[in-house]
Amino acid sequence: MDIPVVFNIQKFSIHDGPGIRTTIFFKGCPIRCLWCHNPESQRYYEESMLDNDGNVISCGKRYSVKELIKEAEKDIIFYDQSGGGVTLSGGEVMTQNIEYITELVKGLYYKGISVVIDTCGVAHYNNFERILPYVDRFLYDLKIIDNIDHKHYTGVSNKLVLENLKKLSDAGASIDLRLIQLDKINNREEDTDNIIAYLKDNNINLEKIHLLPYHKFGSDKYDRLNRSKTIFETPNNEKLQETKRKYEYAGYTTIIGG
Ligand code: SF4
Repeated sequence: MDIPVVFNIQKFSIHDGPGIRTTIFFKGCPIRCLWCHNPESQRYYEESMLDNDGNVISCGKRYSVKELIKEAEKDIIFYDQSGGGVTLSGGEVMTQNIEYITELVKGLYYKGISVVIDTCGVAHYNNFERILPYVDRFLYDLKIIDNIDHKHYTGVSNKLVLENLKKLSDAGASIDLRLIQLDKINNREEDTDNIIAYLKDNNINLEKIHLLPYHKFGSDKYDRLNRSKTIFETPNNEKLQETKRKYEYAGYTTIIGG
């Protein structure tokens, strides 16, 4: 079986789903968001980058399913106390070898460990269907509602993202919608109105909406990978609160942050 590459295992994570979680970041993503704060997550293979001191380090490691489950099990006591578990993130976990991911998700599920999937939605729906019965929640990113802007800033259309979101909702999945907030790019009044209209028109059921203000952490990684970077602006607090009020008025529980 083709074994995916992991570039980070984050313990005691509190922003990747309910409770205290272990977040496993898989390397490889089908899209290229210009604001990505983990550019080392984008390629599907191990690569070299510089560390903070300018030393060459290797990024990415392959683990067997057994090894990852063993690692996750170490913190089971914290998951039980906090209602946490394991989050599979990326890159894009849903575009990794789905046999491997299904085995991992099922393995965690049968150990009684809650599984959350963090996804940008750009993957075959069949892959979602495979793991759906064993997943507690999806953290589902919608980057930009305007399709031309989505293509411009990520390199791909948002058609599949919107289709998969509807299919997951229709299938009864528990979903938190995560909306990165990039000032004047995807948080103008018409963007919020269009997202709400899409959610209403398609009867999308959400647990919550998370507004994730853009941050510049990680921009140094582009230099350390010898890649060019684009810097965006973060909306001010007033704008974030205004956007939050709009979603709440439309009936969605909305929080600022992960
Ligand atoms: S989907 Fe996530 S990992 Fe992929 S490029 Fe966008 S921000 Fe980066």
